Amino acid sequence: MSRTAVPLPVRDLTQIHADGTWKTATGTETVTLLDPATEQPLGSTVLAGAADVNAAVTSARRALDHGPWGRSTPAERADVLERFADALEKHADDMSRLVTREMGMPLGFSLMNNVDAPAMVLRYYAGLSRGLEQEETRVPVGPGSRTVVRREPIGVAAVIPPWNYPVFLAITKIAPALAAGCTVVFKPSVETSLSGALLVRIAQEAGVPAGVFCFVPGGAATGAELVRHPGIDRVAFTGATSTGRLIGAECGERLIPANLELGGKSAAIVLDDADLEHTLQGLGFLSFLNTGQTCFAMTRVVATPGHYDRIVDGLAEIARQQVIGDPLAPATTTGPLVSARQRETVEQYVASGLAEGARLVTGGRRPDTPAKGWFYESAVFAEVGNGMRIAREEIFGPVVCVLRAADEDEAVAIANDCPYGLAGTVWTADPEHGLDIGRRVRTGTFGVNGYPPDISAPWGGMKDSGGGREYGPEGLESYRVVKSLYI
Ligand code: NAD
Repeated sequence: MSRTAVPLPVRDLTQIHADGTWKTATGTETVTLLDPATEQPLGSTVLAGAADVNAAVTSARRALDHGPWGRSTPAERADVLERFADALEKHADDMSRLVTREMGMPLGFSLMNNVDAPAMVLRYYAGLSRGLEQEETRVPVGPGSRTVVRREPIGVAAVIPPWNYPVFLAITKIAPALAAGCTVVFKPSVETSLSGALLVRIAQEAGVPAGVFCFVPGGAATGAELVRHPGIDRVAFTGATSTGRLIGAECGERLIPANLELGGKSAAIVLDDADLEHTLQGLGFLSFLNTGQTCFAMTRVVATPGHYDRIVDGLAEIARQQVIGDPLAPATTTGPLVSARQRETVEQYVASGLAEGARLVTGGRRPDTPAKGWFYESAVFAEVGNGMRIAREEIFGPVVCVLRAADEDEAVAIANDCPYGLAGTVWTADPEHGLDIGRRVRTGTFGVNGYPPDISAPWGGMKDSGGGREYGPEGLESYRVVKSLYI
């Protein structure tokens, strides 16, 4: 694959950000970062150690407890968030290209998810911040003349997102935290360390005050160090369910709140009255987006008998039409998987589906071209039983299972018979009936004839998808703590 070199804002990341400046990390380990589309080195990152984490948390603590941020007004914070959004848009090209090179997301999709959507989220929380009330007075039921109910920033927030939508999943935590008046220590995934550092540079350019938005690059060990640091008051995490359990246990021990946004295995229920063309168009996007590396991907399609065969054939046709290749090329619809290891995991799942008797209709192999890169042909499995591993476990790759349901009730039962509970959809000619189905499915979010998550409404999961909520006023309130003052 030939490609014009894109200059990187930072190639070798050796620093943390604390006290408003970049400081050389004391951590001694470094990791070489590879471009998943070419397998060529892209840069490197240091893994911040305990002393680095301590420096970042101490800086954020100081900015909260003694700096002007802790005493800033909601309107002042809103101004900062708006400038942050403007600066991110100014660097749209650098940011979207960098994430594409780090983790393989096609460029147009990267622009949408790493610039446009995060800028919208920053402005949304700026708007909420402007209307934020800090205190209300209540008339006591018992003795006393009045009670002042006061909402204060919860403190220093640790922000730990994954690599699959790196800027969006960082900003959906950072924006409400800053709007609430918290300070933040941000640790991106190793894979997306460079774009994480760029985000901090952009915040600096936007005038986010010193110590308010600190940064430590690193992986699991750095993240664990951050979560157990006594200066952290709240953890905002998105990632794997297994990691969420570890973080939840640590936060339970420390008695601090943790928002855990975890894995998913979402079902799309297709009823016999669904408009087939619209359904296939919707599922073609929602099932395979970001090469299947999307927590809410509709990877279990549960169809009633009238549409089953046409859904299988239609999804297989969509999978075959995907343009696999350089994610920086405009025509590409499907980029590589994030890593060699991720592709091996997907391959093992496809092998397990075959071994358990599912029918592989298309894909499920490495393409002949490009010769380099962790590319994979999107797979569609038919005749999948809900007890099979490919139906129950999160694959995090472009593998869609189509399951049969005798009728609507069985379809709902199959959707609910799942360890996860993040998202789901129903496809039907009757949207009101679709809402009723949504009321019966145990997931944190659900779409009728589509799935457009909206920043104004709470987002999160149930069961093994975690119980936290982000987005909306609820997202902001989760960064505030309530205090009662009796007079
Ligand atoms: P991961 O759990 O391996 O890593 C996520 C983040 O946690 C990274 O920054 C990582 O360095 C850090 N980390 C790892 N171990 C840690 C520890 N012990 N303590 C503290 N931090 C630690 O997940 P991943 O592979 O990067 O992401 C994929 C997962 O994320 C999938 O399961 C996917 O479904 C999930 N996800 C969920 C949502 C959602 O909103 N529910 C959104 C996107 C992705």
